[in-house]
This record gives sequence, structure tokens and C-alpha cells, in this order.
Amino acid sequence: MGKTKVAETSEKMEKIVSLCKRRGFIFPSSEIYGGLGSTWDYGPMGVLLKNNVKAAWWRENVQYRNDMAGLDAAILMHPNVWKASGHVDCFQDPMVDCKNCRKRFRADDLEGDRCPECDGEFTEARQFNLMFKTFMGPVEEESAVVYLRPETAQGIFVNFRNVANVTRKKLPFGIAQIGKAFRNEITPGKFTFRTREFEQMEIEFFCHPSEGTKWYEYWYQERFNWYIKWGIRRENLRLRPHDKDELAHYAEGCQDVEYNFPWGWSELEGIANRTDFDLRRHQESSSENLTYFDEEKNEHILPYIIEPSAGADRGTLAFLVDAYDEDEAPTEKGEMDKRIVMRFHSAIAPVKAAVLPLSKKPQLQEVADRLYSDLKREFFCDYDDRGSIGKRYRRQDEIGTPYGVTVDFQTLEDQAVTVRDRDTMKQDRISLTALIEYLKGKMKF
Ligand code: ATP
Repeated sequence: MGKTKVAETSEKMEKIVSLCKRRGFIFPSSEIYGGLGSTWDYGPMGVLLKNNVKAAWWRENVQYRNDMAGLDAAILMHPNVWKASGHVDCFQDPMVDCKNCRKRFRADDLEGDRCPECDGEFTEARQFNLMFKTFMGPVEEESAVVYLRPETAQGIFVNFRNVANVTRKKLPFGIAQIGKAFRNEITPGKFTFRTREFEQMEIEFFCHPSEGTKWYEYWYQERFNWYIKWGIRRENLRLRPHDKDELAHYAEGCQDVEYNFPWGWSELEGIANRTDFDLRRHQESSSENLTYFDEEKNEHILPYIIEPSAGADRGTLAFLVDAYDEDEAPTEKGEMDKRIVMRFHSAIAPVKAAVLPLSKKPQLQEVADRLYSDLKREFFCDYDDRGSIGKRYRRQDEIGTPYGVTVDFQTLEDQAVTVRDRDTMKQDRISLTALIEYLKGKMKF
């Protein structure tokens, strides 16, 4: 009998979660204390992977552009920011509890009106604000309540005037920021897909109101293509325009970039035309002038904002899921056996090359050590001299290292090494002096 869709889904995710733990991508947080629901720690491979995802985003969206500036705003902001933005009054989800099994659900996620776990009856829906509250200063009094930001965007809106002044950029231009955000989600889950602490990569792109639609269309296409450029397969991505009833009341348009996760299509990023809502609200609430003087048209305007808002953790999870593959590779004895291989794009792969001396003989180690010190100055490398070469290749395949560089006894004579390609498993003999250029030529960053 064939497997059900649900069984296949959980099987694939189980394999990925287990690989993440085994190879040091992602660990459950506070594990020695039994873990803390829905929080995760990135291990030695995970931190490299997520940094590469963030770096690819920053390079393309900030470094390579003339119309973008970066920002790193504080997590704690003036409480009035969240009043003006609407988060204090409206950032809430309807929550219901099952009277029988006591499980809690987001009412808008449910299809029927009975508990999907035990068919029990639900309580009335209650509104639940998703912002984490904390206290500033030593006295826990109401006046000192501050929030952990639920999105990085507000730090950009309130700095619009500062950035416009110091960069002297003319419209259209954007401000980009990567940082932590916190939401007290009712139903976190699906590994790192929905957590209470996560990182966002957000752009707020300011333009003349008459050009809002043009830039909105530009950005959702641009952001869709970004995921493909860094290795996610086209067929696993789609753009989904929001229905009218899904749209926030101020938004003129919104599209999600969705990824086909093992459990189905889910949002990676939302691109919205937010009109002048945010600047208008902050202008009214702070009584500061946040208009922009358009010299060409000789008028003060409140720019429209196009917002591509991505999750760094969700993106990283999509890169992990998309890279996961199983095929066959020869063992030491030459028999074919199953191998797990993470087919990351070279710019996303945590480790770019592994130096693998064939034996622990000092003459070989010396050459391998020197090679490793040279290579790691160019890109992130690994050194492994433990266990059989076959096992070492398998380990590198599981962390997705594009190239394995083997130093063998012949190296001492011909000053050359064997380079093994992760995907084709083909081997090339390359001279030590040409190796760095060879690897750089093969990898795209
Ligand atoms: P969802 O409907 O999945 O809760 P959202 O539409 O509320 O998401 P946005 O407010 O548009 O999400 O946030 C922008 C991006 O931030 C999302 O596309 C996602 O990548 C990321 N993000 C939002 N909430 C979480 C979370 N709880 N965990 C991980 N990433 C998140």
C-alpha cells in the first residue's frame, strides 16, 4: 500500500530535523532542561547557513543597489510607536480552546467548528494580542511597559527622515534592515517555520504615490527571482496575490512568495503596497513633519511604501528543505549505497571546501595544514582527518560542502590534489598553485 501524503510529509520533515541535529544545523533550545517550546538554536553549520542567506539578501538588496541604505534599529522602541502603528489595538489573533483535550488553536486556521484532534467543542473565540510585553527599568509599573518589536519595519518608518537627510537620496529609495522580531504566536510549530522569536529581512521602499503600483510590481518579481537565483527550484515557488478580504485595510496590494514545504504551500515573504499609511500615522501621532520635498514637482508629499518582508529563519528552512536529496554513492568497497546530500548553491553552503588528508602521516599533514590555512582565508573551509575517506565524504555531503580536497601521497611528488565535486562525484587532479583559482572559478557568490 502506498504511503499517505501525511506520512510522507512527516517522514521528510523528520529526516530533515534529524539531519539538522546530527550535523549541527539546528538544535532545540535549552535542550538539557527539556527544551523551550518552539525556540531553536542554530549550531555551527546553522549559523553559517543563516549568515549566508542574510548575506546574499544584503548583497543584492543593499550593496549592489544605488537606491538603498541599511539600518539596524533597536528592538525596544517607544510604546507610542506600537499605538500609532495599530499593533496595540489590532495585532491580535482569535484564539479558541478545546473544552475536551484543552488544546489551543488559532480560530482563523480551523476549517470546521470542532476540535480536529478529538472532535471536542470549542470555547468562544477570544482576541489575543501577539506582542511580548516587558518592563523598562526596575519598577514593574504600567508606565514602564515596553514591547519586544513584533516586526522590524517600524524601526525603519520612524527613521525615514534621519536616513533621507544623511544619505540625501531622492525618491524612490529604500531602507533595508535585518533583525530579530518577537510574536507570542498561539500555534507555533513546523520546526523553525513559525516560532516566537525569529529574524526578519525587511525593505521599506519609498516612492512617489503615483508610482506605487509600478514599484509594487517590480518588487514582488524581484523578490521571487531572488530565491531562484540562490538555488531554490522554480517549481517549488509561487507568487500568491492576496484576496480582497485578506488585505490589510490600508494596503493597496499584497502578494506572498510561497514555498512548497512538505506540508504544503506556505508563505516565505509578503510584498505589500502599504500606501502612505505608516508615515501618515507616525506623522499624526508624533506631530513631526515626515513629508518629503519633491523638488521636481515642487511639492511636499508623504511617500508611498512598498514593503518586501521576508523571514530569515523561514527562508533558511526553505533552503534546507530544497537542498535535501538522497541518491547513491559508492562505498569504500565499491558497492553502491544510499547517500544523503544537501545540494546547496555554493553561496548558501555553510562550508565551501573540505581539506581531507588521506593519512595522518606528518608529511601529508604538513601539506594539508598549509593548504587549509591558505584556503580558509578565501572562504569558509573544514579540515577532517578522522575516519575513512568514504565516511568523511558522506559527512561533507550531509552538510552540503561543494568540494572535497584530498591530499594523498602522490601530492608529495606532483604538488597536486584531488578535488571531488559533491553533485557529480567526479574527481579532478589540480595543482596546489592553481587550486584557489580553480575553486573560485567553480563557485558563484
Ligand atoms: P503568518 O501569516 O505566517 O503568521 P504573517 O503574514 O503574519 O505570517 P508578516 O507579518 O507578513 O507575516 O511577516 C513577514 C515575514 O516574517 C513572514 O513572511 C515570515 O517569513 C516571517 N515571520 C512572521 N512571523 C513569523 C514567525 N512566527 N516565525 C517565523 N517567521 C515569521
